[in-house]
Amino acid sequence: MMKSLEEYKSENGDDFKGDLIEIVDKMEFTEGLNQLIESIPTRAPTLCAGCSHRSAYYAAVKAYQEMGYAKEDMIFASDIGCYTLGISPPYETADYLLAMGSSVGDGCGFSIATNQHVMSFIGDSTFFHSGLSPLVNAVHNKNKFVLTILDNRITAMTGGQPNPGIPVDGMGDEAPAVSIEDIVEAIGVKFMKIVNPHNIKKTVDIYKEALEYDGVAVVIARYPCTLIKGQKKKVPMVIKGNCVKCLTCVKTLACPAISYLNDKVVVDEALCKSCTVCIQVCPNKAIGVKKGD
Ligand code: SF4
Ligand code: SF4
Repeated sequence: MMKSLEEYKSENGDDFKGDLIEIVDKMEFTEGLNQLIESIPTRAPTLCAGCSHRSAYYAAVKAYQEMGYAKEDMIFASDIGCYTLGISPPYETADYLLAMGSSVGDGCGFSIATNQHVMSFIGDSTFFHSGLSPLVNAVHNKNKFVLTILDNRITAMTGGQPNPGIPVDGMGDEAPAVSIEDIVEAIGVKFMKIVNPHNIKKTVDIYKEALEYDGVAVVIARYPCTLIKGQKKKVPMVIKGNCVKCLTCVKTLACPAISYLNDKVVVDEALCKSCTVCIQVCPNKAIGVKKGD
């Protein structure tokens, strides 16, 4: 018999100081609950619905595929942040991760040691922390690789702390914002593009140009983290009647707000962040903004 929190408190007092682990340890699960736990399908960790990192990865993959490159022609150097989740299918844009800032330096190394195309990904916070100095060396050593600075205007993975790129410090006080693009230009990078990665076509085009560039190419993929507080909830998407169930949206975009359930493709309105990327991805124009909201 599973004990309720009230029963637990009546036996142990309510001086448990919020230690839920202790409570759960002392719970006796019913056989039914154990069966339910065993029957729940496992779910791989994934980027949030509406996350701009997903859009950047979608565009990067589309770019190299449309250029005729195979996965084996590519090396994806990753760094430490939510975006390390690019390791999972369908993107597979994080082949390895060594240490904070390493995507830049070892991306350079791989670009010299192999004939593969190197794409490195680093977040804005990690770039400030330790991506700067290897970029200086990359320019000096005339390396050829594509570095994406995934600038979501926050330190998302550790809970939303500010970083030097935004005009607020850790105490919530006004602070000078340091411009990533000014730094990149000052270092001497000649190819630098700033893009909203939710604009898929534009981002794919920029990645194609960057992959062809003979030198250090920096793409700043800038869009605020979908979890930053205070963002207005917009109108969610809906799947229209002309959906042919090709599952392109489910399999190649993999937004957690879109599922294939009971023989239908559906959007979970509670999860949808209205980034509109799925509209751009559907080859049949079968996704649109929900009317009447
Ligand atoms: S990509 Fe478009 S047509 Fe294909 S399953 Fe998704 S909504 Fe339907
Ligand atoms: S608009 Fe589409 S891709 Fe964006 S969060 Fe909603 S369902 Fe996902």
